[in-house]
Amino acid sequence: MLANKTALVTGSTSGIGLGIAKALARQGANIVLNGFGDAEGPKAEITALGAKVAYHGADMSKPAEIEDMMAFAAAQFGQVDILVNNAGIQHVARVEDFPVERWDAIIAINLTSAFHATRLALPAMRAANWGRIINVASVHGLVGSAEKSAYVAAKHGVIGLTKVTALENATSGVTCNAICPGWVLTPLVQKQVDAKAGALGISNEDAKKVLLGEKEPSMQFTTPEELGELAVFFCSPAGNNVRGVAWNMDGGWVAQ
Ligand code: NAD
Repeated sequence: MLANKTALVTGSTSGIGLGIAKALARQGANIVLNGFGDAEGPKAEITALGAKVAYHGADMSKPAEIEDMMAFAAAQFGQVDILVNNAGIQHVARVEDFPVERWDAIIAINLTSAFHATRLALPAMRAANWGRIINVASVHGLVGSAEKSAYVAAKHGVIGLTKVTALENATSGVTCNAICPGWVLTPLVQKQVDAKAGALGISNEDAKKVLLGEKEPSMQFTTPEELGELAVFFCSPAGNNVRGVAWNMDGGWVAQ
């Protein structure tokens, strides 16, 4: 379905981003990976799916590096048809204790990077009259949780950016939508499981149950594979007129 299309997925060396990259690769898209840590393993996983893959290690908190990454993607594959703004970090602390540099980093990586990548991707998408911008927000773009001020503020911002981008391109073939996962057991959440296990003196498995029980009625983690299939839907012809939605996959979290 996505042969001859190129997808750039930020923060795709692990977790949700890698799951989405693999789902798009299975549909035939060329993939540009980004993120920290080992890139060779993820590159090999994409290649094994029969897709072409490239990697750029831009730090998404640095606008100049984002510009370099977008130029690199265009040079590799012609242009970016699908942009998945996924890179994100978390920090947990009450507002009065929140380290200022962590606030700045979360806003830069989780929100401002999506603005930069989007503004740089749009001209080519508009010229082709086809494009998909998928912003990985969170249930925390729709509701709050204590001790996550920067993350919740950034994710609410991402949903606002999604709506405006969708509206500005509504008469074109370029759509923009947001995905709002509940708990997904990635390295980002494993850190919170570890903290809970340590704080309560319980096992890792029990800490997962406590975490799910606080928020997610299904008592199940959403998987990167399931989120990948939602991204595929947004890229499909059936997604042509889906514009500006924030679609949660959250085991009932936001339904409460
Ligand atoms: P993860 O830690 O597994 O992956 C994050 C990715 O972002 C990694 O590839 C990492 O290298 C990359 N990254 C971090 N800082 C970066 C930077 N400055 N520049 C470039 N890349 C950077 O986390 P994840 O859980 O897969 O999170 C992915 C996205 O999903 C995030 O935006 C997160 O907020 C969102 N999300 C996660 C959950 C969850 O439960 N895991 C729920 C809702 C939303």
